[in-house]
Parts: sequence; structure tokens; C-alpha cells
Amino acid sequence: MSRPVPVDVVVIGAGAAGLMCAIEAGRRGRRVVVLDHARAPGEKIRISGGGRCNFTNRDAAPRNYLSANPGFAISALRRYTAQDFIARMDRRGIAWHEKTLGQLFCDGSARQVVDMLTDDLREAGGELRLSTAVTGIERTADGFTVATVNGTLASTSLVIACGGKSIPKMGATGFGYEVAERFGLALQPTRPGLVPLTLDPALLERLGPLAGVAVEARVSHGKGRNETRFEEGLLFTHRGLSGPAILQISSFWREGDEIALALAPGTDLFARLREARAAHGRQSPATALATLLPKRLAQLIAEREAGAVNLADLSDKALRRIDEAVNGWRLKPTGSEGYRTAEVTLGGVDTAGLDSRTLEARAVPGLYFVGEVVDVTGWLGGYNFQWAWSSGWVAGQVA
Ligand SMILES: Cc1cc2nc3c(=O)[nH]c(=O)nc-3n(C[C@H](O)[C@H](O)[C@H](O)COP(=O)(O)OP(=O)(O)OC[C@H]3O[C@@H](n4cnc5c(N)ncnc54)[C@H](O)[C@@H]3O)c2cc1C
Repeated sequence: MSRPVPVDVVVIGAGAAGLMCAIEAGRRGRRVVVLDHARAPGEKIRISGGGRCNFTNRDAAPRNYLSANPGFAISALRRYTAQDFIARMDRRGIAWHEKTLGQLFCDGSARQVVDMLTDDLREAGGELRLSTAVTGIERTADGFTVATVNGTLASTSLVIACGGKSIPKMGATGFGYEVAERFGLALQPTRPGLVPLTLDPALLERLGPLAGVAVEARVSHGKGRNETRFEEGLLFTHRGLSGPAILQISSFWREGDEIALALAPGTDLFARLREARAAHGRQSPATALATLLPKRLAQLIAEREAGAVNLADLSDKALRRIDEAVNGWRLKPTGSEGYRTAEVTLGGVDTAGLDSRTLEARAVPGLYFVGEVVDVTGWLGGYNFQWAWSSGWVAGQVA
């Protein structure tokens, strides 16, 4: 190992959480080096939100996060809020807009957010070392040594900000979990979250003509007090189901579970079909359904549930069957598209081993875990970046 160069803080991972943490530590006068094996910083920020980065959610609150310890995120989210990040965007002059459900996007390119963070890091005196793979980490009497392909650093604080396993093509590695285990921290099982769900081949073949069709739907999972539901867009794909409502529910779904779909939520479809039958008895069921659903979807359901008849030929029982097919559809996905397309990784470093005010490992002073590597996973809609900002910020106040 080459002679270590002393610094105060080494941050591994130049993503949202790592950059935020490094900026804050640098502003406190700490000598900070951020290491990343990728060629560019903040790649997930750059591609997020279709290139416009859904950088936070105006209403981000602990209830929007999944974790084995749902209360863990409260402290960080309170200390660095969505409003704090919005104020930062405003100071920088980055224009933004609310798309829906409190989701805030850049008007222009997500690159503006990456540039803001890298400029802030430079101004705070922090150093960014890209294309720098970490080859070893050791604990020393007064901190850590971090060996890299470009030399070794010695630091009093080490911040692990290397994200989850999602999108390996973009450099996601699961390295953070290995470091956690090495230092004796427990992990909550990891699995892909915010991910399209797949269907069995027979159902897929039946739904084949719907690939590309989108509809506003209510998708739910679980029953009674354990029910979770989202009312957002749903997209039929060649592999199964996608769209925001499905991505949301995928974080709650487990293999073997059913999900329930309402494709015309909030509509008393039975009543609407009876009215249509009374007023336009010679109309086809597909035409009546097409006033509420995309045409291809209306046709497929009508053909399957009613056949080639007029509304007048259908009994109340038959109308109820159509209603049930539209708003009471239950199905068992066979799986998900996995880390290849998942937006996040559920699970991760068990929060029981971390201090919720600082994100420091309780048993290893000076070692911090921030961002997605921690067992805190947001819903779709800007919540994951807010966790990255909040957790990075709080660690940056003390690291
Ligand atoms: C396609 C896509 C779209 C998304 N859109 C949104 C959105 O609009 N809004 C939202 O809130 N969330 C979104 N997310 C989720 C969000 O991007 C992540 O939750 C967030 O980036 C996590 O931040 P992080 O800093 O913890 O990790 P990351 O941003 O993943 O950063 C981790 C960094 O660590 C580096 N790294 C990994 N392993 C190593 C290693 N061994 N050595 C050195 N460096 C390493 C990586 O190269 C990377 O730069 C999206 C995710 C995806 C995949």
C-alpha cells in the first residue's frame, strides 16, 4: 500500500447523497475527497425523471418511505426538508415546476442539478476523484485508510454513499453492503423496488394487443389495515405491467401475492353501463366502455366479457361481470424486471446499527452510511432524492 495521504473525510460515491454530504463537510472546513469509480458524477441524477430530475417532493414525509424501522427517517427529513432543497434550487436560479402529486421537476435539464452540486463541492474546497475504484478499506487507530487504484487516503471519517444495486449498467455494485458487513453492520434483505412487474405467458398473450396502452388506475396490495393503494398511471407492456401505479405497488408486492386493479377508479361502472343500456340499447359494450377507457382496452374487455352483442342484450348480471373485469381485476404477477430496470433497491444497511440524527454507525465511530444504501426507500415521486439530500446533509454536519 502506498503512503496514505491524510484528509478529514473520504466519501465513496459521487451521487446525490455523497455530493450533498461532501459539500456540507467541506463548508465546515473539513478536507474532503469524494471517490467514484464512474467517469462522471451524479449519473442517476442526470438520467432521472426522464432527464428532468424529479428532485424532491413538496410533501415528503416519513410516511412516504419503506423501512424495517419506519421512524428512522424522521430526524433527517425534518432537519433538511424538501423546502430546504427547493430554496437551494431557487438560489441557484434553476427553474422548476410541479408535475403532479407534489412532484417537482426541473424545467430544463437534470444536468443543472449535477452542475449545482459539483460547483458547490468545488467552492466548499472538496475534491472529486472520478474513475477511481476503491481496492481496500482498513480501520486504523484514528480512522480509516482507503486504498484506491490511484493511491491511498487516510481519513478520520468515512462516508459510504454508493447507492443500491439498481441499474448495474450504470455502475451500481452493492459495494456499500459489503462494507457494512465487513464492519459488522446488519443488512435488511435487498430486492428491486419501483420496478415493472411481469405476467405469466398465457395472460401476456391475452393482453398482447394492449402493449403501449396507458390508463389512470388504482392499484392495491394487501387487505384491510395492511392495504396499500396508489391511484396513478398504469402502462401495459410486452413483459407485463408498468407505469407509476405499478412501480409504486412493486415496492410492497412479494412473490406469490395478488394485486388488485381498478381501471376506471371512482366510477360506478355498473350504474354507467345500465344508463347506457337504457339510453343507447343498440350500442356495443365496447363503445360504452370506450367513454371511460382507452379504446383498445375497452374492446378487449368487452369482447372477452360480453362477446359481439348490443348493450340491450346484456342482463344486469352480465353488466356486473364487465364492471368486475374493469374495477375488480385481481392478478398474480410472476415477478419483476429486476435490478436491470428497478429505480431503487429496497432494504440495505439496517438502521438499527445507525444513529438517526447523524447516520453514523453506532459501533464504528467515524463510519457513515447515507442515501439509498441505507434501509430507507422512498415511494416514486422525488422521495428518494429527498432522502439522499436529507441523509447526506445530516451526515455532512458531523463527518
Ligand atoms: C432510471 C432512474 C430514475 C430515477 N428517477 C428518480 C427521480 O426522478 N426522483 C427520485 O427521487 N429518485 C429517482 N431515482 C432514484 C434515485 O436516483 C436514487 O434513489 C438516488 O440516486 C440515490 O442516491 P445515492 O447518492 O444514494 O446513490 P447513487 O445516486 O446511486 O450514487 C451512488 C454512486 O456511488 C458510485 N459507486 C457505486 N459503487 C461504487 C464503488 N464500488 N466505488 C466507487 N463508487 C461507487 C456510483 O457510481 C454512483 O455514482 C431514479 C433511479 C433510476 C435508476
